[in-house]
Parts: sequence; C-alpha cells; structure tokens
Amino acid sequence: MIDKLPTIKKLMRHLHQVPFLASKNLYRVTSYFLQLDDQRLAQFCAALQEAKHKIVLCDNCFVWQEKDAGCIFCADASRDSSVICVVESWHELLVIERTEAFRGMYHVLGGVISPLDGVSAKDLTIEQLIVRATESGVHEIIFALNQTPEGEATSAFIARKLQQSGIKITCLAKGVPIGSNLEFVDRLTVGKALADRRSF
Ligand SMILES: [Zn+2]
Repeated sequence: MIDKLPTIKKLMRHLHQVPFLASKNLYRVTSYFLQLDDQRLAQFCAALQEAKHKIVLCDNCFVWQEKDAGCIFCADASRDSSVICVVESWHELLVIERTEAFRGMYHVLGGVISPLDGVSAKDLTIEQLIVRATESGVHEIIFALNQTPEGEATSAFIARKLQQSGIKITCLAKGVPIGSNLEFVDRLTVGKALADRRSF
C-alpha cells in the first residue's frame, strides 16, 4: 500500500534512519508529523536546524556545548579538573550527572573499540584523552564504560597506555549488572557504583 504513496514512503525512509526509533513506531511517528500544523512543523524544523548550527562538541572533553558559550564542564571552575570520568557517550554522562555524586570532569570517547563493528581506537577520542590526562595534572581516571566485553577491552586498552603515567585508574564498582547499559541502570545504583569505585 505504501508503495502507492511515494511521498509518505519517502518520509518514512528518512524516519527509518533515525536510530532508536523502533520500526513498529514508524507509522505512528509518520502520522504525528503529517498531522502537525504548518506552524508547529516550521518550529520543529527550525529547532533542528538551530541545534545543528549552534551545538558543537567541546574540543577538550567532547561533550556537546553551545557554540557561543564555554563548555559547561571545562569552563566550570567549581569542578575538580584532576579527576576525569570516561564515558562512551553523552547518554552515560547524563546518567552520572543525575546521580549528583560526581563533581569532576568528563571525557566522551564516542563509542568503544569494536573490531566487529569496524570501530578502532583511532575512531574514538582515546588519543586526546591520553594527551589530556598526561598534560594537565590529572590524578585519577574513572572508567564508567558500559560493562560489556567491548567496554572492558576499551578500558584495558586505555589503562595500558596510561600505565607509566602514575595516574590512578579506577572503574565503577560491580554494583552495575554485568553486560548492562548504564543508561538503563537506576540513578542510585550508578551513584553507589561511583562512590565504591575500585582500582582497574
Ligand atoms: Zn569540555
């Protein structure tokens, strides 16, 4: 049926490319957009374009920031710049921020090393992390990567690179279920895992 509605088909093809938008919801989301009035649709498109133009990655910690303002973490003098919490993505960072248990800095890797998915160390911000850690008086690196084989391997890779640096290397306590995605672990568990962090 959709084949006879090429315009809708085209819209759905674009929506289908949005990660995490489950295909079972595609029809509902498509209907939502089709039912938007012109003003709401224009606002939606404008917000998307504005975000694309005004939001950039901080070139130090790789967290999203407003282009015209400083990074909300790197420019915050009340945060402890001697501790860096390493996360895979922005989502995990948000989870840790929600615990309100961490006042250090972050470093977003942009993923984990995963040969099967064609992701190697150079596709991530590992080199920038090593430089940052060794050049700016960092005392501790906390690995808060998802506890998956790839997350563990990535932590081990970075730890090896920092072996000679004398920097204390820790990771979240085992309160976080093995194989779990931090994004879906509750706030208290993540806060506790952070407080009880152990040597890597
Ligand atoms: Zn930053």
